[in-house]
Amino acid sequence: MLGLGLIGGSLMRAAHQAGRQVFGYNRSIEGVAAARADGFDATAGLDDALRRAAQTDALIVLAVPVPALPQMLRHVSAVAPHCPLTDVTSVKGAVLDEVAEAGLLERFVGGHPMAGTAHSGWAAGEAGLFHHAAWVVSVDDHVDPAVWTEVMALALDCGAVVVPARSDEHDAAAATISHLPHLLAEALAATAGEVPLAFALAAGSFRDGTRVAATAPDLVRAMCEANAAQLLPVLDHALGLLTEARTHLTEHQSVADLVEAGHAARIRYERFARPEIVTVVIGEEGWRDELAAAGRAGGVIRSALPTRDSRG
Ligand code: NAD
Repeated sequence: MLGLGLIGGSLMRAAHQAGRQVFGYNRSIEGVAAARADGFDATAGLDDALRRAAQTDALIVLAVPVPALPQMLRHVSAVAPHCPLTDVTSVKGAVLDEVAEAGLLERFVGGHPMAGTAHSGWAAGEAGLFHHAAWVVSVDDHVDPAVWTEVMALALDCGAVVVPARSDEHDAAAATISHLPHLLAEALAATAGEVPLAFALAAGSFRDGTRVAATAPDLVRAMCEANAAQLLPVLDHALGLLTEARTHLTEHQSVADLVEAGHAARIRYERFARPEIVTVVIGEEGWRDELAAAGRAGGVIRSALPTRDSRG
């Protein structure tokens, strides 16, 4: 595990609880000390951890923010270039570019657990963070069936359900359901911050609508800025809806269109079915396209899919 913050630290605990052998690197000595005090195998020596990974053919998980990736990947490329590699980053296209740049694409399968809190660091982590969460595992054209199977197994061991998706489709969806909510939460919090009495009256709507604004600003910037190409059209769409609602409110004293469209979409979301993907065999011809189509339709993997090899 490279990075023992909220996500890497939770993953380390969850993998351990699932009976896996897990060891990790963290940049700060304090993080290493905290992980060790909880009984985990952690070091501040990046190359030591990577050498050990190379010796044991460990699955390496990148659990650092996007700006730290190029430097981390340089070390992986120098010390453990043949290990299977995955990540947990909230953007997938930008990571894919960095991994390709480092020459590590062949053994890389991107991942993104859709779980988190507004807190950071080892102390914020918990083994149960991924229970029942969706965990995106990328099915881009290059992905290797054996590495894909390993990443799927890790996500399932942590109690998550796997959503197969292409990196570009993940980024468009993540812009809508994660990065846009971050910007809207910041705008909402900043707006209320200007209004006398607002904080004194704030209750559920404000708390829920601004929850993610409590996230460390660096992390929010890292994901929104790294996904700018997908975020901009989504932001334009949301601004368009708000501008239209503003016009209708001014001219007709009504916000009916926006409220009805939003309510209908929310009800559709609540009824959204998540059928289990059971028929795909990893490694068989067309498996990546089949998985991407199933994921797009709402399908999830709840227990490990067979592989071509396991089928003989
Ligand atoms: P965190 O701040 O809790 O942990 C970040 C970790 O990265 C720490 O161990 C820190 O020491 C390390 N790090 C930062 N810069 C580094 C550098 N330059 N060199 C080496 N190590 C460095 O953050 P987190 O929430 O665990 O985020 C980690 C990743 O998980 C990010 O890529 C984020 O996009 C992704 N993610 C976060 C959430 C969430 O809700 N926070 C959810 C899903 C995925």
